[in-house]
Amino acid sequence: MKFLVFSDIGKNVAEIAAKLRELGEVHSFTMKNQRETALKSGSKKLVLLEGTPFSGNVSGALMGSGISEYDYVFISSTPLGREVAGLISANTGNTIASEVFDFSIDNGKIKTKRFFFGGKTIMEEENFSKIITVTPGSFEPSESAENAHEETLALSDSTEKLLEEKDRENGGTNIEAAGIIVSVGRGVGSKEAIEKIMPLVSATRGELAGSRPVCLDYRWLSEERQVGLSGKKVKPRVYIALGISGQIQHIAGMRGSKIVVAVNKDKDAPIFQECDYGIVGDLFQIVPKIVENLKK
Ligand SMILES: Cc1cc2nc3c(=O)[nH]c(=O)nc-3n(C[C@H](O)[C@H](O)[C@H](O)COP(=O)(O)OP(=O)(O)OC[C@H]3O[C@@H](n4cnc5c(N)ncnc54)[C@H](O)[C@@H]3O)c2cc1C
Repeated sequence: MKFLVFSDIGKNVAEIAAKLRELGEVHSFTMKNQRETALKSGSKKLVLLEGTPFSGNVSGALMGSGISEYDYVFISSTPLGREVAGLISANTGNTIASEVFDFSIDNGKIKTKRFFFGGKTIMEEENFSKIITVTPGSFEPSESAENAHEETLALSDSTEKLLEEKDRENGGTNIEAAGIIVSVGRGVGSKEAIEKIMPLVSATRGELAGSRPVCLDYRWLSEERQVGLSGKKVKPRVYIALGISGQIQHIAGMRGSKIVVAVNKDKDAPIFQECDYGIVGDLFQIVPKIVENLKK
């Protein structure tokens, strides 16, 4: 079998290729600056895209490489990846299975797994779609012994224009490598209130993280601090969840934590099913007490 893999993030290419390389020939596409992480992904061919990526020129480059030659097209579900998948689908008439977090291929047929009913249940389907978008972080990347054969491909000019480039807020944050994480949820109430949590972050020498509403919907924290199914998968020694209800999509990102401490004012919050130490109460009263004790 032959697979095309695309992600604008090299690590995501490596994750998907690691899963696919035993099943057939993998041709991966990513941005040139992502070469390092994608090179030893086990892909037979690695096409490095040069230029500013937009959905139009990236989907054009992938379609120009002959979608019909491949049995399946796997695209990492980043914001760009989702748009690229949509354009390829519209232009080629192939359907998409989106947000797949696991799959198997047997006799050429793919079975996919994705969350259903907002993550309360898993739907396993025999899928007839050719384009599969994969939730980042679903598979472990593992290095192959061999480098891929490299090619470069210049992206065409796009009708879309890049007006301004900004460094990511809090650039360099890597919550995936943190030993201690203090994570805030919607219960913190506002961006300003996060300041009141900072003494705990300092006292634990931890990293600050958040749930999806905090990072994506309200943007109180930057996206790179989001923990969960559609965010980062973290495995700290200690994960302190403050005002986080504990929905399955959040748990999916922090399940590997060694010790989980939860503070929530609702004694029935699902996070209490997932924690080692649970404190029922108002986080703004409890956090100063924890800090006080840590300083003793
Ligand atoms: C496809 C998909 C992907 C998703 N991916 C992610 C993901 O990657 N990460 C993620 O987090 N979510 C994700 N979600 C969203 C997820 O379903 C939940 O909506 C989200 O996790 C809820 O965030 P929260 O716990 O911060 O907010 P809420 O569910 O609103 O919980 C807030 C909690 O704070 C408590 N609280 C309020 N005030 C206080 C106080 N003063 N002191 C103490 N406790 C207080 C409340 O009792 C409540 O339990 C995803 C959803 C879907 C459908």
